Amino acid sequence: MVFFKKKADKNQLLKILPKVKGEYLLNEPLNKYTWFGVGGPAEVMYCPKDTEDLCYFMKNKPYNLPIFVIGGGSNLLVRDGGIPGVVVRLKNKFFRNWKLEGDKLVCGAGMKNGELKKIMIENNIGGLEFLVSIPGGLGGAVRTNAGCFGKELKDVLISATVVNSEGEELEVSADDFNLSYRQSFFPEEWIITSMTLKVVPQDAKITENIIEEHKNYRMKSQPHNAKTAGSTFKNPEGLKAWELIKKTKSNEFKVNGAEVSDKHCNFLINTGNATAKDIEDLGNMIVENVKKETTIVLEWEVKRVGIKK
Ligand SMILES: Cc1cc2nc3c(=O)[nH]c(=O)nc-3n(C[C@H](O)[C@H](O)[C@H](O)COP(=O)(O)OP(=O)(O)OC[C@H]3O[C@@H](n4cnc5c(N)ncnc54)[C@H](O)[C@@H]3O)c2cc1C
Repeated sequence: MVFFKKKADKNQLLKILPKVKGEYLLNEPLNKYTWFGVGGPAEVMYCPKDTEDLCYFMKNKPYNLPIFVIGGGSNLLVRDGGIPGVVVRLKNKFFRNWKLEGDKLVCGAGMKNGELKKIMIENNIGGLEFLVSIPGGLGGAVRTNAGCFGKELKDVLISATVVNSEGEELEVSADDFNLSYRQSFFPEEWIITSMTLKVVPQDAKITENIIEEHKNYRMKSQPHNAKTAGSTFKNPEGLKAWELIKKTKSNEFKVNGAEVSDKHCNFLINTGNATAKDIEDLGNMIVENVKKETTIVLEWEVKRVGIKK
């Protein structure tokens, strides 16, 4: 009885959504879009055809409909009950275009960071090598101010185009995003559609070498081919989260299939059959233990979204 009611409600949501040129997917499982490989379904997933379509959707959607944007899913822990409302995914070709304008690279937010490698090498430009080794897409990189090897998005972002909750397209300068350590300042519903990044002229060989060095460093120090979302906790001011986890022996905790990586103890791993709850419980156990032993409270860097089952 309850099952049928739920099914009817979901179709009901589809009926009240605006008619768009893009695609709606009902009850779309999100575990296939997240690096942890866990998470319940999106009530509806919407893949806009282009910016015009996205603006139309935002302008005409029901007023209080929850909206969440998913990028590469590499910084997300989607809970087992899934995400209510609409999950927007910029997978269409329109959001993966780029053009080089002198020392500026304009990129669609749906591009994967890894795609920058080919662009830099083929055009003898550099400056974005650090991004290539970070999983995920460019929209997520702006939103999280992604960084590594001494550089972060903040250092290369000139501006970004966003669509707001009223369906207006706005050009926002990098300063207005107020980017800081793994965070940015802007309303939850804003959707980044493209961005302009600073690049420098650079011989392709140099770019290739830097990218190779970064890759080798990661292979040595971080788990690869693992179901993880990278660093679980932010580094507290002047400290390293992984050192606190190790010092307090919190790295020895496990919850069913959720474990701490033995290569980098700020990385949690789904060894195969963990649920989102297992991973979140493990993270919370670590927070509690580190607090008990050191009084320091670790803050989640991985974004936890959706509802518990
Ligand atoms: C093995 C591994 C290594 C990692 N190493 C690093 C590292 O060195 N440095 C680092 O900073 N991070 C690292 N990460 C974390 C992660 O890769 C980054 O945070 C990445 O930038 C997230 O991008 P994404 O596209 O996967 O975003 P998602 O995980 O899909 O989403 C992250 C956030 O961005 C928002 N978002 C995504 N796209 C958009 C958009 N178009 N508009 C508005 N909001 C959007 C989402 O709503 C969410 O709030 C690592 C992760 C893994 C798995």
